[in-house]
Amino acid sequence: MNALGASFVVLVGQIGRFSWMIIPVALIIALEAPELRPVIIQPLGKVKDSEVQAVTKKLQRMLAVQVIVYKAVALPKSAFYQPRSRYRAEKLLDFLAPMAPDQGSILGLTDVDISTAKGKIVDWGVFGLGRMPGQACVISSYRLGKNIEKVSRLERLARVAVHEVGHNLGLPHCPTKNCLMEDAKGLISTVDSETDFCKLCRKKSAIIR
Ligand SMILES: [Zn+2]
Ligand SMILES: [Zn+2]
Repeated sequence: MNALGASFVVLVGQIGRFSWMIIPVALIIALEAPELRPVIIQPLGKVKDSEVQAVTKKLQRMLAVQVIVYKAVALPKSAFYQPRSRYRAEKLLDFLAPMAPDQGSILGLTDVDISTAKGKIVDWGVFGLGRMPGQACVISSYRLGKNIEKVSRLERLARVAVHEVGHNLGLPHCPTKNCLMEDAKGLISTVDSETDFCKLCRKKSAIIR
């Protein structure tokens, strides 16, 4: 709105007596183009282009966000968990958070196994993890099976991305069956059944499309 307001003043100054024509145009632009929240995809290590594309498309279709894809960076050594030879998701979030854009999120995307503490389990493998509310989340394709299954690996990855970015936007786990914010609890069958946001979640967030 501020940028539009500024250009409006300049236009009025230049066009003088025709300024009455400019006012409604400026207002229409302001109403129809709300600023999209930026979501950065940060590939961590080697990630397939098809995965980046599937996640980008799904995020833009399900949420009013603008996706920006960064160049891949190496997985940070600080997140490596030696006892299980995998990466700690919460440490990946610590690594990603300083790179988050203003008013937006950063989504780490990786093919390696990621884990975090869950209740009494010290190291529990996960599909993804997102701060809530917060600006960083991370997802992994490692536990998402093969593309030959009924719901493809890429679609599963894209759904997990929407779920974790949803947490960043302040959406908690949802009790509604088949809602994208349902807690998968490590079950791929739950991810496969999650096709859309439910009415409850839609009421909570204006960013859901
Ligand atoms: Zn969750
Ligand atoms: Zn829901």
